[in-house]
Amino acid sequence: MDIKFDDSGLIPAIIQDYVTGEVLMLAYMNEESYKKTLETGLTHFYSRSRKELWNKGATSGNFQYVKEISLDCDSDSLLIKVKQLGAACHTGEFSCFFKNQLKNEEGLNYKILYDIDEIIKDRKANPKEGSYTNYLFDKGIDKILKKIGEESAEVIIAAKNKNPHETIYEMADLIFHSLVLLNEKEIQLDEIFKELKERYNKKAD
Ligand code: AMP
Ligand code: ZN
Ligand code: ZN
Ligand code: ZN
Repeated sequence: MDIKFDDSGLIPAIIQDYVTGEVLMLAYMNEESYKKTLETGLTHFYSRSRKELWNKGATSGNFQYVKEISLDCDSDSLLIKVKQLGAACHTGEFSCFFKNQLKNEEGLNYKILYDIDEIIKDRKANPKEGSYTNYLFDKGIDKILKKIGEESAEVIIAAKNKNPHETIYEMADLIFHSLVLLNEKEIQLDEIFKELKERYNKKAD
């Protein structure tokens, strides 16, 4: 691998969450920090402001465990997939890219599934007074399965209707209760996406 460092001896590295693909930060590496990264499995950069080798997380504890390193087509930028401990940004935000300048609302809607899943996990760990999710967990698996049955039936009835709005509403109900069921069974949402991806890839052959 012949990395093209620029005239200042640096190469930009895009840091990405290895599970969700979320872009966490952009930083620069020189040859020394790149070698350190390979050696240790933890990201090391060159701080342009401090003009020194920088092991991300050394002071904050928010280390990045390297899962994959790729070089772009013309070898002048790096993409590094990591497991991020804590937050990537020194402000405490998970990703540095939280200053939204423009957002097309149709973009990446599936992320809401992870956001809801996170809330369901939090309710399970820290039950909250008056929470419907906790009510379902308290009643147990049979109640959750009964709700799945009900919501499935409601989807069927709604889909017989000409107006799509009711189907959208009932499908959202079914998806929410499905996420609760996955949490009850301690199955990760990632495992569902992995299964779908495997089927998709088979079909594409
Ligand atoms: P850390 O490497 O997380 O221990 O943070 C040490 C210092 O590095 C911080 O005080 C910031 O100055 C800088 N820093 C940490 N994370 C970032 C980041 N994502 N982007 C730019 N600078 C950062
Ligand atoms: Zn390039
Ligand atoms: Zn930041
Ligand atoms: Zn319903």
